Amino acid sequence: MKGSVITIIGGGLAGCEAAHQVTRFGLRVKLFEMRPKKPTPAHKTHYLGELVCSNSLKSDSLENASGILKEEMRRLSSIVIEAADQNRVPAGKALAVDREGFSRYLTSKIEKNPLIEIVREEVQRIPDHLDSPLIIATGPLTSDPLSEDIKRLTGSSHLYFYDAISPIVDADTIDYSKVFRGSRYGRGKEEEGDYINCPLNEEEYYRFVEELIKAKKVETKDFEKAIYFEGCLPIEVMAERGKDTLRFGPMRPVGLVDPKTGKTPFAVVQLRMENKEGTMYNMVGFQTKLTYPEQKRVFRMIPGLENAEFMRYGSVHRNTYINSPKLLYPTLQFRKNELIFFAGQIVGVEGYVESAAMGIVAGINAARIALGQKPVVPPPETAIGSLIRYITESHTSDFQPMNINFGLFPPPPHGIPKSRSRSFIVERALSSIKEFKTQLKYYSN
Ligand SMILES: Cc1cc2nc3c(=O)[nH]c(=O)nc-3n(C[C@H](O)[C@H](O)[C@H](O)COP(=O)(O)OP(=O)(O)OC[C@H]3O[C@@H](n4cnc5c(N)ncnc54)[C@H](O)[C@@H]3O)c2cc1C
Repeated sequence: MKGSVITIIGGGLAGCEAAHQVTRFGLRVKLFEMRPKKPTPAHKTHYLGELVCSNSLKSDSLENASGILKEEMRRLSSIVIEAADQNRVPAGKALAVDREGFSRYLTSKIEKNPLIEIVREEVQRIPDHLDSPLIIATGPLTSDPLSEDIKRLTGSSHLYFYDAISPIVDADTIDYSKVFRGSRYGRGKEEEGDYINCPLNEEEYYRFVEELIKAKKVETKDFEKAIYFEGCLPIEVMAERGKDTLRFGPMRPVGLVDPKTGKTPFAVVQLRMENKEGTMYNMVGFQTKLTYPEQKRVFRMIPGLENAEFMRYGSVHRNTYINSPKLLYPTLQFRKNELIFFAGQIVGVEGYVESAAMGIVAGINAARIALGQKPVVPPPETAIGSLIRYITESHTSDFQPMNINFGLFPPPPHGIPKSRSRSFIVERALSSIKEFKTQLKYYSN
């Protein structure tokens, strides 16, 4: 396949990153971007890599998982992080950017790259026969005709059009003196504590419902209004329907007995284990459009969660993403056709930086395949590798997008004191990314 051109669909954060990485191997890219001819409901400009909402790429501190991800990407010569660093505006520990400056910089770098041809056309169909790698990086707002075609490739039950994400709490920050373990009617391996149950008495429940209704919400964009299904209503919408709705819905206590009182609580919030290590628990049925500070304030009213640290906040979004655990190898290759790669938010990561990071992996591996080399998988000890592990190893039945957080990294070995745990994870991630980089033979470094 030497001399072949790699096709990338979508000139967003992941597509630009993938294109840049491919050219580092000396290979050529044909990058399709449908804007400005065909707009999306959220993008406003013709620039590649447009930031559709916030101008922040989150924390740049190594005390934060997002900061580690960015540092790894810097070490892998990320063009998205370079564009952000060059267009940084003061924002404390966050890497916030001049929005237009960022996209203009990225667009200009891609346009001036002699190995990249940009085609401003919508792709509606993935060719049946490929003789070189193709990367699909069309993001959360993939155009309808292409979504239909992706459905054809993946099977209709493996492409989703919205996410309904419940918050995730750090298991170490739950107050275990107030909660109890167990499944409804004692079903499941109760002794292993399938669920952690946070019991609420009548007064606590009604106060919680009141605050939920009063809390500040994220505005729902017009194009998102049609997405709510009865099965995934935000909890505050359920609460608005009646003060007892939640008590008969996701907070129903039936089948649960609090061993401290010997009684069924008035209401209950169930927490389900999110990862094998048991370091993260998600709040069952708590998809929400409350703002992040309000989620922290209101959900900390729940007994046992007074000091909870949230590793992921809840949301309900218009979002196109695939069932990656079922469909992708950890190289980001499509299992049914290894010449097809997926990258960006469409693989089930959440966020600008996470999306671009997936572009790095897809770009490197598409280039390696074209060069007749074996594709690589970033080690799970790295932030990039831990995201890949999440999207390819999660349960397939309720796969939901994820942002980078400390709960995704393998926990430090026994013997590392808790106070050293995060610095251990940082050091291990950065030394693992260095090792990973030595496996890659770049055209330029
Ligand atoms: C409304 C909204 C707000 C968001 N806000 C934030 C936020 O504040 N912070 C954050 O971290 N994340 C946010 N996200 C999530 C996500 O991180 C971003 O959407 C991010 O840009 C995803 O990167 P991507 O490269 O996967 O997709 P995109 O950056 O969206 O790039 C995909 C590109 O593909 C193009 N395209 C689509 N279909 C076709 C086709 N058929 N042919 C050719 N081109 C096509 C699109 O025009 C687009 O340019 C938001 C998402 C949405 C939908």
